Amino acid sequence: MAFTLPPLPYDYKALEPTIDEQTMRIHHDKHHAAYVNNLNAALEPYPDLQKKSIEELLATIDSLPEPVRKPVRNNGGGHANHTMFWEMMAPGGAKEPTGALAEAIKKAFGDFGAFKEKFNKACVGRFGSGWGWLVVDRSGGLTIEDTPNQDTPLMGGRMPVLGCDVWEHAYYLKYQNRRPDYVAAWWNVVNWTDVSRRFEKARGREMAQR
Ligand code: MN
Repeated sequence: MAFTLPPLPYDYKALEPTIDEQTMRIHHDKHHAAYVNNLNAALEPYPDLQKKSIEELLATIDSLPEPVRKPVRNNGGGHANHTMFWEMMAPGGAKEPTGALAEAIKKAFGDFGAFKEKFNKACVGRFGSGWGWLVVDRSGGLTIEDTPNQDTPLMGGRMPVLGCDVWEHAYYLKYQNRRPDYVAAWWNVVNWTDVSRRFEKARGREMAQR
């Protein structure tokens, strides 16, 4: 098998009460697993593509063989997005970022509160299923965007450093139709250590390419 479902980096119950155990079990063991299985099925006739990383497949999606473009976009995007999503959350982390990431947020958005407000707006305003993202742009600065379905900034070769899954499967059991409540609570489980690590890595890469 080319791609495998990574284990959750913590217990299914670890993000309670923000995200309940049953949601985590279904989200990881069923939804994420399905993206991995469907991606592998689509890539079965293409052994050379199975050797590439998921980031590489998504960044070069327009040059892939036509029959795999849609499955890589949907299921490959789903696999990449969820793998990041689990790592971008953790129980009992810091409430706010520090260091270079905190400075970059201040520079891009004014202050942490204004950043959260803008990010929340992107998440709540995304019509239907999708994601809200904090992305490192080409100049090493930060921007907020939202994507439909499992589309990902990785398709443009850009690095997301924080992403919030706003598909109903991410929150419906506990929050039902109240997406704003889910997004507001979700900040409690953001893993700022992981987000900072991604920021440093992505910014270093963008600076090196200039
Ligand atoms: Mn999801």
